Amino acid sequence: MAAQSAPPEACGKLICIGKNYARHAAEMNSTVPKEPVVFLKPRSALIGHGSSVVLPSMSEDVHHEVELVALIGRRGRDIPVSRALSHVSAYAVGLDMTARDLQGRAKKCGHPWTVAKGFDTFAPLGGFMSSDQVSAVQDLWLTLLVNGAVRQHANTRDMVFTVAELVAWCSLVFTLEPGDCLFTGTPEGVGPVRPGDVLEARCTGLSPLRVTVR
Ligand code: MN
Repeated sequence: MAAQSAPPEACGKLICIGKNYARHAAEMNSTVPKEPVVFLKPRSALIGHGSSVVLPSMSEDVHHEVELVALIGRRGRDIPVSRALSHVSAYAVGLDMTARDLQGRAKKCGHPWTVAKGFDTFAPLGGFMSSDQVSAVQDLWLTLLVNGAVRQHANTRDMVFTVAELVAWCSLVFTLEPGDCLFTGTPEGVGPVRPGDVLEARCTGLSPLRVTVR
């Protein structure tokens, strides 16, 4: 089956996971959480392959975070880990763009990350590949290139919580509905982007995602 582009209007809520790779938690001077760190992005942040990330004037330090994204295909609540992957219909590579300076200030005050994570264009999403074409979801290489130079390169086997565990855990909080997108966290190597940068996100077996920064 060929990769498909999901139009943003077909996507539901965007559920995102923080600190799901130990080396990324370390580079953020943080520790690995005992339970998943969950936050939401608005659907208005979604953009597709070939689009532009627009840097907001409120931030001077926007970072790339390459992530594996799981698309929910079947409604569920209180889903057991053993059946969690049957609720995932497709995978894509995505970027969790983050205004790191605003996030840092929010963390200091104990405030939510919503603004730092939620600007328009802060959720670039590549084309989806049917999950039956993705054989080893916990053994995929995630790569992020900025202007052709590798900045992030890691394997999904290093996730703190597996995709199945994340789906199950999130379904204890939210009813998961078809179209919901789960951003599963970024590995180490996050860093700033500048106007004119070309970001290319890759994941084994999935169609690459390319966006420009302006
Ligand atoms: Mn992230």
